[in-house]
Amino acid sequence: MEKKTDAEECPGVPISFVPTPTDEYRRHRKIMKATVQPGIPKIPVPLPMPKTKFPPVILPGARVLIWKQDPTVTEIGVRKAYLPRHIFAGPRDSRINSQGLPTVSPNAFGDMIQTPGTDAFDAVHTFAVVRQTLTMCQRAGASGSAAAQMPWQWNSATVPDPLNVFAHGLPDVMNAFYSRGEKALKFGDFIRPGSSPAERIYTCRSFDIVAHETGHAILDGLKPGWLLSGNPPQTGGLHESFGDLVAIFLALSQFDQVEAAIAQTKANLHDKTFLSDMAEQFGLALGRPNGLRNADNDLKLSEAGTEVHAISQVFTGAIYDILSDIFSFEKSSAVKDDASVLYTCGQYLFSLVLRAIIASPHSSATYAHVANQMLAISLADGKPVQYRNYIRNRFTVREVVVSATPLTANIKDGVELAPHIEDAPGAVQDRRGCCGTMNLQEYFGEGGALHAEIEEFKKSLK
Ligand SMILES: [Zn+2]
Repeated sequence: MEKKTDAEECPGVPISFVPTPTDEYRRHRKIMKATVQPGIPKIPVPLPMPKTKFPPVILPGARVLIWKQDPTVTEIGVRKAYLPRHIFAGPRDSRINSQGLPTVSPNAFGDMIQTPGTDAFDAVHTFAVVRQTLTMCQRAGASGSAAAQMPWQWNSATVPDPLNVFAHGLPDVMNAFYSRGEKALKFGDFIRPGSSPAERIYTCRSFDIVAHETGHAILDGLKPGWLLSGNPPQTGGLHESFGDLVAIFLALSQFDQVEAAIAQTKANLHDKTFLSDMAEQFGLALGRPNGLRNADNDLKLSEAGTEVHAISQVFTGAIYDILSDIFSFEKSSAVKDDASVLYTCGQYLFSLVLRAIIASPHSSATYAHVANQMLAISLADGKPVQYRNYIRNRFTVREVVVSATPLTANIKDGVELAPHIEDAPGAVQDRRGCCGTMNLQEYFGEGGALHAEIEEFKKSLK
């Protein structure tokens, strides 16, 4: 039987997208090896091999296909990704378990290459993005501590339960969420309002949305106290912002995405066309912006009130500005490739943010807490003073902190900056503009649930 090409099996996927040697090529290589290529050189003395009593079993990683951004943004499209750890049928591994769709099994090479638009593709794509997000956070937080494993909120030495991922977990629901109670991520699908013929949108197919919700799950494992609605608005803002930052930095941890960003913006991260191009369709379909689009703002704390989504944009915007500043500082086009520099800056800044969050208080954390930890950790890392100037300046402009010295002078090492705009005592978080996670009843407690019911009642009377 004639072998089908990739293009025939997967319409829209370039031919030989995943190179797999054909039988003909293998036979050719065998003949070439036997007749043309030199044999294995004879080694007179056998090389001593390291001996271990119980050699570790190393299983190969998996190649998968995922959507780079949104399937609707056609020029970005499908990409091949390599997950360095072995992926079991499901797909699943020790930390993440796909649920609710037919089991997908790896092929003979340990890969999971599926056809875009199918349930199997959705299961693999969603698993892969959750896995990439978790791996990125584990690397960024690496310090030898237990926290560096990024355990889920319920994990302990005796409870290693994985996070259950339901790619099609909320039929006809225009939302997605992380539930601690269900130990799960659930992604909705719905008919795009006004579409004719009816077009079904799957939130699991959005790289940004999957990364964002995984960010909530990871942060809940690190700071279980932060997700509860009884915290001040800024603590809620940190949770929502972390989801967006995870989506942004995950894109910037992938070389092809970094190169695309450099080409699109001509190495100017404040180029507006790039920001507004990202995740356009999903943001509009869900009625709120995602990931990078949330970074495109000049909001200050005094303008955000108690609205948690707006507050989150203040933090996301400040971090994005700091990334742009550090990138401009490190950029040296004559010596180093811009994309390589941006990749390195992204890796460092995400690690700095994550470690600053880990070092912040377990409840009622504020932006000033995290900003001051970023200053302290970047100093301990031996980074140049300019890094700390950028952190101080951006958080000062956003009204997070006040600086005793002019913003044009270098910051003094070891100085802790005082908070500027603080949440009013007893201020209640308004989470209506946030994602599904922040609106889940399980994080509200009894008082919150009552508040939500009253709001619903008020809405019905309008
Ligand atoms: Zn969220």
